[in-house]
Amino acid sequence: MEPIDVARTPKLGFGLMRLPKKGATIDIDQTSAMVDAFLDAGFTYFDTAYVYPGSEKAMAKALVKRHPRESYTVATKLFATAVPTAKLAKGELAKSLAKANLDYVDYYLLHSIMEANYKKYERFGLWDFVAEKKREGVIRHIGFSYHSGPKLLDELLATHPEVEFVQLQINYADWENPAVQSRENWEVARAHGKPVVIMEPVKGGRLANPPASVGDLFRSVRPDASAASWALRFASSLDGILTVLSGMSTLEQVQDNIHTFKDMGPLSAEERRVIADAMTFMGYSNQIPCTACGYCLQGCPREIPIPEVFKVLNDLQAGASTDECRAKLREATEGRGTPSECIACGRCEAICPQHIEIIENLKRAVALEA
Ligand code: SF4
Ligand code: SF4
Repeated sequence: MEPIDVARTPKLGFGLMRLPKKGATIDIDQTSAMVDAFLDAGFTYFDTAYVYPGSEKAMAKALVKRHPRESYTVATKLFATAVPTAKLAKGELAKSLAKANLDYVDYYLLHSIMEANYKKYERFGLWDFVAEKKREGVIRHIGFSYHSGPKLLDELLATHPEVEFVQLQINYADWENPAVQSRENWEVARAHGKPVVIMEPVKGGRLANPPASVGDLFRSVRPDASAASWALRFASSLDGILTVLSGMSTLEQVQDNIHTFKDMGPLSAEERRVIADAMTFMGYSNQIPCTACGYCLQGCPREIPIPEVFKVLNDLQAGASTDECRAKLREATEGRGTPSECIACGRCEAICPQHIEIIENLKRAVALEA
């Protein structure tokens, strides 16, 4: 198998986690239009996962059945954290291929490795499993996505030299954030010579609408550039990047991102200083760092819409009125669990890649239920 061609891989990747919805299901017509615009602009990398609801099937309809196989590459992932047996975990690959209508996957990742779960991936023999599937030709390249600190990352990359790339959460707000450690993790990957796929470059969309101080700062330098473009250019200006994933939800976002990657180029020295100032502002943010990935929803026995509750709390923190937040919380929890119904079982915290103290934060929302 050829090694990964980092230089020839376009630097914008299409994250298929936040696709547009029509009612409760993914809007295939709109997704197809977004896919076409992305491919027409010369980009090729699509990122999905076994656990992104409806994503692999939507990708089959919007991409795989409509475009030649050689015109794109696909990444998908094996998520073992919530799975009780090795057999079930290994079975995810065949199911992913069937749902996505693919014979092989270009990039296959062990999904969301962190301190709390990496031993399970070892115990289930999943590193050997993916290596075997690579030998069989079902997988072209092996990697993992990662959500803990540099020490464990260093150990994993030393123990598993067969890993060809690593997917890391990197954005300017988390560059020095001790809960994420973007910079140190990126340095470890570079020291091991592994190409990096960047996830959450816009921090779950939050850096598209940063605090007013940061937005004003960006506009003062480039009035025409979106806040998201600053975040994406920070990520794509780093060395050793395979691609930067953006979880796009509208055609406008696809077009804005295409403009960013094709027309704006890497950050200048002056723009790097602006980003350094933005990092300082973001360092004082006291928002809950939820990226709305939704992993926590899988195991919650009370069906509490955790990311939506945290969005309400962040709005409250940012100055929204209590009455408005009460109404939003009522809407978010209608027919589902409320924060006061949390039984503190801890399943959500064991799975959260941002290591958020979900139970404590939910207690803060109880006051808004009245
Ligand atoms: S701790 Fe609370 S919110 Fe988390 S999974 Fe358990 S019941 Fe749900
Ligand atoms: S609380 Fe954690 S797991 Fe849940 S949506 Fe937010 S970041 Fe994802």
